[in-house]
Amino acid sequence: MTIKGKIHSFETFGTLDGPGIRFVIFMEGCPLRCLYCHNVDMLDMKDYKDMTPEQLFKKIIPYKTYFQSSGGGVTLSGGDPIMQPNFVVKFFTLCKQEGIHTTIDTSCFTTKETLDRLIPVTDLWMISLKHFNETKHLKLTGQSNKPILENIRYLSKKKANIRFRYMVLPGWTDTFFNLRALKKFLKTVRFKLIELLPYHTHGIYKWEHLGLKYKLKGTKPPSENSIRKIKKMLEKEGWKVMINE
Ligand code: SF4
Repeated sequence: MTIKGKIHSFETFGTLDGPGIRFVIFMEGCPLRCLYCHNVDMLDMKDYKDMTPEQLFKKIIPYKTYFQSSGGGVTLSGGDPIMQPNFVVKFFTLCKQEGIHTTIDTSCFTTKETLDRLIPVTDLWMISLKHFNETKHLKLTGQSNKPILENIRYLSKKKANIRFRYMVLPGWTDTFFNLRALKKFLKTVRFKLIELLPYHTHGIYKWEHLGLKYKLKGTKPPSENSIRKIKKMLEKEGWKVMINE
């Protein structure tokens, strides 16, 4: 059977989604429904182009010299590419055969079987951590955080290369209790870097355009001071922290 991926869009010279210059592919679908999602137009598998892994590979190969000179590669983002594992495995396998660095940007809400298939062909896992309180996680994303945290521990055990992304959402993820839980969790896993993502409101227009209610309306982005404080607090533990705006 031919494998086809549901692709929403591309970004040819991305610099925010992994190391170096990257070809970023936004895939359709996501198992979560985060209240702040800025790609809400990619969640429902409605607006996409079907592509085979080979077709996508042909599209990225002209950029190989840029990847090589910058230490970059390809990033599958979305939505969440983990919803289309057959496509990801095949596409990343083609990339690895050409020596191209592969990154997946994911929530990690999936099964161990899927992780096992992805581990050998994924150079970097960029995993977004949402909330450590189960009730709040459910409210914020529509799903439990248990399989996510378990999967991260599993990836860590398998020595996967992990980079965390942590959205600083005032009143939700910047609280004392959540930051304490974040630190506690981070001490139990292996990772290379934490990216702090200050909450922003740039994606609200997409919610309005789709006629969806944006429940976080009125929530303001965090202050520079609060981001700096969180960064310092994490750096104190000896972790590498970067602010990704
Ligand atoms: S995991 Fe990412 S793409 Fe999925 S709903 Fe949350 S913010 Fe949106």
